[in-house]
Amino acid sequence: MKRREDMSFLERLYVWEIAKGVAQTTGDLIKHLATFLMQTVGIKTQERPWVTYQYPDEARPYAPRYRGRHRLTLNDEGSIRCTACFLCATACPANCIYIEPAEHDDPSIEKFPARYEIDTLLCVYCGYCVEACPVDAIRMDTGIHPEIYPPDPRSFIEDKETLMLRSRILEDEGPEALFTRHREHMKKVERDPFNADY
Ligand code: SF4
Ligand code: SF4
Repeated sequence: MKRREDMSFLERLYVWEIAKGVAQTTGDLIKHLATFLMQTVGIKTQERPWVTYQYPDEARPYAPRYRGRHRLTLNDEGSIRCTACFLCATACPANCIYIEPAEHDDPSIEKFPARYEIDTLLCVYCGYCVEACPVDAIRMDTGIHPEIYPPDPRSFIEDKETLMLRSRILEDEGPEALFTRHREHMKKVERDPFNADY
């Protein structure tokens, strides 16, 4: 922002700057209205006629590095990759990862998480847990938003099975299927926030 003493005479009048702002806004309005009308009558244009997205019917395109909801990755045979080393929980600034380690029947596997939970109400989606994991066992590449659960804070805790299921859907059916399920759920929440099928 310019300091008052650096402004030109016209800028100090304010009226000129207000007129510039009104002209810009009116120009944008005419441009978007024209694009909208052209698309309505079937004329293809490069631009979207509006800047809003009709979520959840329409997905906004995200950058490839967008941090979506977590998933716990799987080994080739479908077992959990996590070794319950606690590095993610240690790195987490929100202290929202809870792990209960257990001995595995297979002697070649030292430990696995009998319980692995993320309290998504506390999570700040910083991605430190993903950075900290030495075996690529947790990722945030699902491309979906944080979920809305019923008004009980405990229901926002995502357990190991939920986090693994996301990996299964992603690997078996692709990211589009994951988003479609998420979208269907959001539509139910929109229709009836207190009785949606969670
Ligand atoms: S994204 Fe950040 S706040 Fe959320 S669980 Fe991972 S480390 Fe914790
Ligand atoms: S997700 Fe990764 S960092 Fe966290 S406990 Fe499992 S192996 Fe360790």
